[in-house]
Amino acid sequence: MIIVLKPNVPKEQITLFKTTLEENYNLTVNTWIGVESTVLGLIGDTTSIDEDWISAQDVVESVKRVQEPYKKANRKFHPDNTVIEFPSGVKIGDGSLCIMAGPCSVENEEQINYVAQRVKKAGAAFLRGGAFKPRTSPYSFQGLRAEGLDLLKGARKATGLPIVTEIMRVSHIDMFESVDIIQVGARNMQNFELLKELGKIDKPILLKRGLANTIEEWIMSAEYIMAGGNNKVILCERGIRTYETATRNTLDLSAVPVIKKLSHLPVIVDPSHATGKASLVEPMALAAVAAGADGLMIEVHNDPKHALSDGAQSLTPDKFDEVARKVFALKKAYDGIMSDE
Ligand code: PEP
Ligand code: MN
Repeated sequence: MIIVLKPNVPKEQITLFKTTLEENYNLTVNTWIGVESTVLGLIGDTTSIDEDWISAQDVVESVKRVQEPYKKANRKFHPDNTVIEFPSGVKIGDGSLCIMAGPCSVENEEQINYVAQRVKKAGAAFLRGGAFKPRTSPYSFQGLRAEGLDLLKGARKATGLPIVTEIMRVSHIDMFESVDIIQVGARNMQNFELLKELGKIDKPILLKRGLANTIEEWIMSAEYIMAGGNNKVILCERGIRTYETATRNTLDLSAVPVIKKLSHLPVIVDPSHATGKASLVEPMALAAVAAGADGLMIEVHNDPKHALSDGAQSLTPDKFDEVARKVFALKKAYDGIMSDE
């Protein structure tokens, strides 16, 4: 961290400020004295320093962070990829491609069991399905809630597919005890109290990117979970808000290689919520694989036209068969090209 001091700050004040920094944060402070202003260089772990506090000091002109504000999620401090292993033998982050698929919302037993069996057959490793739904309108279907969780567990029992489903409040954590991956949706990416509590449990967390959040803010949310001791975080790019209206969101595929550089955490892509259109899921799923994603989350519905949520972006099971076939074929070709290099 570099701090530029105001011109002509008396020497005693500089010394006092330096000592405060060194004593409070256990840092080394280097000083460069110019003709008019003085620059301080902070050496050491600056992650816990509050930039706003620095800026608010009378002697400070400006402050610039030169190192990322996150540590546990940072590849610099953890060069190897995080690989999350499941009892089924499935791994996420090991270079394989993991597909999570299923309906936006769990609607009834017949629906979830049918979709589960179809996505499993097509090669999905996880069944997704919302039980608690974060809907824009309070008058829209809000999910089957606890009953939805039971139906997901039933579908898991019938097919053997582990389940991933969204949590919306801290008080539900116990209810999610036997869920295999707990999803934090885009709208809760910065629900810090929820993130802190999820940091205390030993369960993989799928953290979706917020609708209007930067990559750094997204990694900082992962850091919240990891700071509590839970290192099993999977990031999910699901599109961000831009001025474009042709798609529901704008899929920021460059986030995949950017995350891979900055962090060791696995990153998957959700082309369904990113585009909002079933016809765009296949091309964007293929592009995500080419961008290096560790997996995909895809919405699949037995009868998209009558879905209780997100029908327009949901694939039929037949279309999902085709998309899965293509993405696995592309992944195989991609791995072949990479190993030849
Ligand atoms: C979902 O996966 O069903 C969902 C609501 O996604 P997002 O949080 O990305 O909007
Ligand atoms: Mn959805």
